Amino acid sequence: MVKGITKRWVLNTLCAIVAIVVFAIVCLSFAVHTYFYSSVEQILSGRSVEFSKILSKFPSDSASGFTSAARDYVETSSERESMEITVIDRNGNILANSTGFAPDTESPMPDYEEAKNSTSGYAKWVGRLPSGEKVTAITRMVKNSDGENICAVRYISSMSDIDIVIFCAVAVFVIVGMLIIGLVIISGTYFVRSIVNPVRNITETAKKISEGDFNAQIDKMYDDEIGDLCDSINDMATALGAADRMKNDFISSVSHELRTPLTAIKGWAETMQSCGVPDKETFDKGMDIIVKESTRLTGIVEELLDFSRMQNNQMILMKEKLDILAELDEVLYMMRDRAHNEGKHLLYDQSDMIAPVMGDKNKLKQVFINIIDNALKYTPKEGVVGIQVITEDELIKIVVTDTGCGIAPDDLPRVKDKFFKANQSVRGSGIGLALADEIVALHGGTLDIESGIGVGTTVTIALPLAKD
Ligand code: ADP
Repeated sequence: MVKGITKRWVLNTLCAIVAIVVFAIVCLSFAVHTYFYSSVEQILSGRSVEFSKILSKFPSDSASGFTSAARDYVETSSERESMEITVIDRNGNILANSTGFAPDTESPMPDYEEAKNSTSGYAKWVGRLPSGEKVTAITRMVKNSDGENICAVRYISSMSDIDIVIFCAVAVFVIVGMLIIGLVIISGTYFVRSIVNPVRNITETAKKISEGDFNAQIDKMYDDEIGDLCDSINDMATALGAADRMKNDFISSVSHELRTPLTAIKGWAETMQSCGVPDKETFDKGMDIIVKESTRLTGIVEELLDFSRMQNNQMILMKEKLDILAELDEVLYMMRDRAHNEGKHLLYDQSDMIAPVMGDKNKLKQVFINIIDNALKYTPKEGVVGIQVITEDELIKIVVTDTGCGIAPDDLPRVKDKFFKANQSVRGSGIGLALADEIVALHGGTLDIESGIGVGTTVTIALPLAKD
């Protein structure tokens, strides 16, 4: 059963071409038939004009002279081999016949009857003789100077040979037509296959991709629009595979991030539970860790919630006029201990400047935490993390520089992408920079990163200053 593109091609193209070819064959056959039959009639008519001119010169009443002249002409005519010439007197009796045989009185002569009664004195008949032979016959009345009919000349030509020629011509047209249709079918089948097969291939591969096989790739057969489609689907499968891997990495990173503080909290809670009331120092240390790790856990969950709001375009900023440097001080106050414990130097020249910014206090603090947390995380022991504040035109720039591992040039353009982690071995969910970038953008600012492997990284947060 023919279906789909093949069916449409058969209906739209093949049917139209077959119809055109059939129409062309019919027209050509008709033209050839008309051409040959009218040529024969023209020849017979021309001869009859010549002969009637000769006969019209004889007076009709000199019967013997007229009859012998007619017979002479008929019997000596060079055309008598190819056509039959007959002279008929005004009473319908045959005076002379080029065949030399007695005239066949059974033979119909409708052309003679018609010519006799017509004003033009000429008539044509195409028909079959009693013998079955097809002929063209013309009759021309011969008139005297007074315009009276004195006799008629009748020319008959067999059409058998001409019918054979016409039949051969029609056969040639039919063969050529069938060859054209055959060629169209072959080239059309090839063309349709060149579309249907790759499309089938694409459908199967797309099905595999939709079932989760992101390694599925389509073999590109042609370098055309379908080839471009194959490339796009292959790229899509690769991108989906990468996104899927990122998603899995993200789940495992987040699980890991959540497990670390939970383990610490659970460990200290169990210690206190099993040992009864501990001494004050141990109790304080345990509680301190439980509170710190719970705060970290809350931070992670907050970050995840913010990220999900960002994905759904539902992040709402509670904007107010605030001193951005005061918020930065608060974050640095929290970070100082951590830097000290990790043996890293956190350098910041606190300034008395007041930098008013219209923004969401908690979200901007989240940005500072993410950027400084990264700087500390990717900087080894004894490394330096420096924070500088620059005011420029209507902007305040907070520049965080570290002497850490740096980011490879290939990874640098992607670090702000969600879930992207250049360094898989270091803890982190891969959403910190994406979130920070989005928050800064929502405040009308920019977040730029410059980095070099082994040199360190500089992150510049630029925010517009509030106008008075
Ligand atoms: P993560 O939670 O993994 O740190 P981020 O979105 O904050 O996610 O950062 C994305 C990636 O950018 C990190 O995995 C890390 O490879 C790289 N990166 C970010 N900040 C720094 C930095 N200061 N030094 C080196 N690499 C960094």
